[in-house]
Amino acid sequence: MALETPGLHHVTAIAGDPQRNADFYVGTLGLRLVKRTVNHDDPGTYHLYFGDGEGTPGTNVTFFPWTDEGRPGQFGAGQPQTIAYRIPPGSVDYWRDRLESRDVAVDREDRFGETVLRFEDPDGIGLELVAASEAQRTSDNASGNTAGGASNATPWTEGPVSAEHQLQGFHAVTLAIGSFDATAAVLTDVLGYELEDEADGRRRYRAAAGGPGSIVDLVETDLGRGQMGVGTVHHVAFAAADVEEQQRWREAFADHGLSPTEVIDRKYFRSIYVREPGGVLFEMATTGPGFAVDEDPTELGSELVLPERLEDERERIEAQLPPFDGPTVDASD
Ligand code: ZN
Repeated sequence: MALETPGLHHVTAIAGDPQRNADFYVGTLGLRLVKRTVNHDDPGTYHLYFGDGEGTPGTNVTFFPWTDEGRPGQFGAGQPQTIAYRIPPGSVDYWRDRLESRDVAVDREDRFGETVLRFEDPDGIGLELVAASEAQRTSDNASGNTAGGASNATPWTEGPVSAEHQLQGFHAVTLAIGSFDATAAVLTDVLGYELEDEADGRRRYRAAAGGPGSIVDLVETDLGRGQMGVGTVHHVAFAAADVEEQQRWREAFADHGLSPTEVIDRKYFRSIYVREPGGVLFEMATTGPGFAVDEDPTELGSELVLPERLEDERERIEAQLPPFDGPTVDASD
């Protein structure tokens, strides 16, 4: 059986102040803070995960908030340019009004027949909310993809955005690269994506399984290599079914001449990482075990959870972390 990913699993970026980061993703965008932990490789930094009501794979954007003293990143080739979430077709005006009322500048454009609202988060990371056409939504649902997104995102009933307008998981990521070919070959020859459309210098690829969160757009940039730091996206993770399949992914990347890492236990999923030739760091993450592995589903994100090996150092770690009181949600929303 051919190896195919159903699409995106999560996207991880570097923020500045954790409080401002959480206030935006929860208080403004209405995502749920589904995990509050530390960077397992750097426990002096938080790792915050935002997603739908359950943290379903395909809905989660995660951040390492380096604080405002952290090194600023510079956007350039070899980096994701925007992260796009899907919204219901009738929610475009709601979202434009909500963002503009919070002094977020919003551009609106039509792209491949979809309405796109473009804006930046407080650290300058490019975000989009995309209202897919009814025809596209129907074909997504008919394809039976359940990797996350419109058809299976779980509303967060205690959030500031009513269920009818909530983000519905990822729509796409846009990757900025120096030239299309080598990155496109990884998408098509390894990950099972197909070129679906091309316009205005943008190539749209879709995972063969063809559901929400299954789009990767490529754009070429004249900019030099980007610099990782505050305000840039660190990596893009695609979904792998399980650890067995992940071994096959490792072999597939190696057969393509790339150098994947060993499998790393990230507690909520198992991961391998590989740098694609255009410079973007890809990850393959298993759909399980998920965020309920160390917290009750009703309590997700409410407290700092640590990997077991760091539990003995909790007091020292908590004292070193930057101030963060949990997301602020405006009661008047
Ligand atoms: Zn990751």
